[in-house]
Amino acid sequence: MIPFSPPRIDQKIIDAVTETLRSGWITTGPKTKAFEKKLTEFAGHQATLCVSSATAGLELMLRWYGVGEGDEVIIPAYTYAATANVVVHCGAKPVFVDISDDFNIAVDGIEKAITTRTKVIIPVDIAGFPCDYDEINSLVKQPDIQHLFQPKNQQQNKLNRILVLSDSAHSIGAWYKGKRTGNLTDVSVYSFHAVKNLTTAEGGAICFNLPEPFDNQKIYDILNIQSLHGQDKDAFAKAEKSNWRYDIVEPGYKSNMTDILASIGLVELARYDSDNLVRRKQIFDQYKTSFSHYSWAQLPEYENENKQSSYHVFLLRIKDVTETQRDQIIRKIFEQDVAVNVHFIPLPMMSYYKNAGYNIENYPVSYNNYSREITLPVYYDLGDDQVKTVIAAVVNAVQAIVG
Ligand SMILES: *Cc1c(COP(=O)(O)O)cnc(C)c1O
Repeated sequence: MIPFSPPRIDQKIIDAVTETLRSGWITTGPKTKAFEKKLTEFAGHQATLCVSSATAGLELMLRWYGVGEGDEVIIPAYTYAATANVVVHCGAKPVFVDISDDFNIAVDGIEKAITTRTKVIIPVDIAGFPCDYDEINSLVKQPDIQHLFQPKNQQQNKLNRILVLSDSAHSIGAWYKGKRTGNLTDVSVYSFHAVKNLTTAEGGAICFNLPEPFDNQKIYDILNIQSLHGQDKDAFAKAEKSNWRYDIVEPGYKSNMTDILASIGLVELARYDSDNLVRRKQIFDQYKTSFSHYSWAQLPEYENENKQSSYHVFLLRIKDVTETQRDQIIRKIFEQDVAVNVHFIPLPMMSYYKNAGYNIENYPVSYNNYSREITLPVYYDLGDDQVKTVIAAVVNAVQAIVG
């Protein structure tokens, strides 16, 4: 069986984790701080806070911006549930917008969805392909749009416009006009979940990049405390000689990263550009070259003059098939011992969101893309022969179902 996305656990990772286990410090400490520094250097934004997941990072940021009851947050209909669930956790309303052909949120759809209640837009770089950030960033600064914004607190007064909070769960390392994700909007959040490009088993990072007069280092300090119960000293600082006394400055959350996980991240990040991304691009190119021979195959866009993907997952679409036929094709692929997936089932089709009144008929591009989509595996350890096996399995399956 060719698995869909096994983690890359080699001797280097095992050695790094072992060293941390033996170091006497396993929770948040020097490894986490070193990983944060490397991430900031990597993407070029202002400051990075490592957290326990991207979900936690997104929610911390929504709460930092004071998002709550009566507020609206614009997100794509086509994303993983985390993007919407955090909005619900805060008591605000997710406003779904349909996507474009490239699977990312449609900018004209965002514009139509903005109201006086809109506080945040969460664009998602689906499959690692960056959204149209110049358009999104200038939209929120457009005078007629900025005029609609109704600030309710200090943070909102200071920014005086909609916050652009990127869900960059898929896109660490991707490029947009010479800059990396993390450095493209006010704030971006990476995920280091087990199936993501760069994994620490579980984990995430908040990349701060707010404009003047915000002090990103100061926001880091505040959220660092907020992610650890509002305690003014972390356990590492408390472990210093006679430094035992601490205060709780607010009822914070518990979403810190551990040094065990950060030590995996440090190994992964050091080789991310030089081998992980290189291999992923090779696999994308191999899929593209092979499938371009078949008229039924619709290939995803993953690089153009302005954008370069992080090659997270390969979103193949089969032309002119129904959702049922696509499901049959997937079954045939699995019968050939190849694991594939679907990224994603649009959120308006999920029970909770359907029951909350969202209707997939209002998101025709999302449904169309979803109904014909099959996600192919992409990961460092996937060999050339395995890629050929995946391609052959897909070709056989499509021919068996649609002839
Ligand atoms: C995986 C994922 C998340 C959540 O990441 P976690 O680190 O598991 O919280 C958020 N958004 C998208 C688009 C994802 O795919």
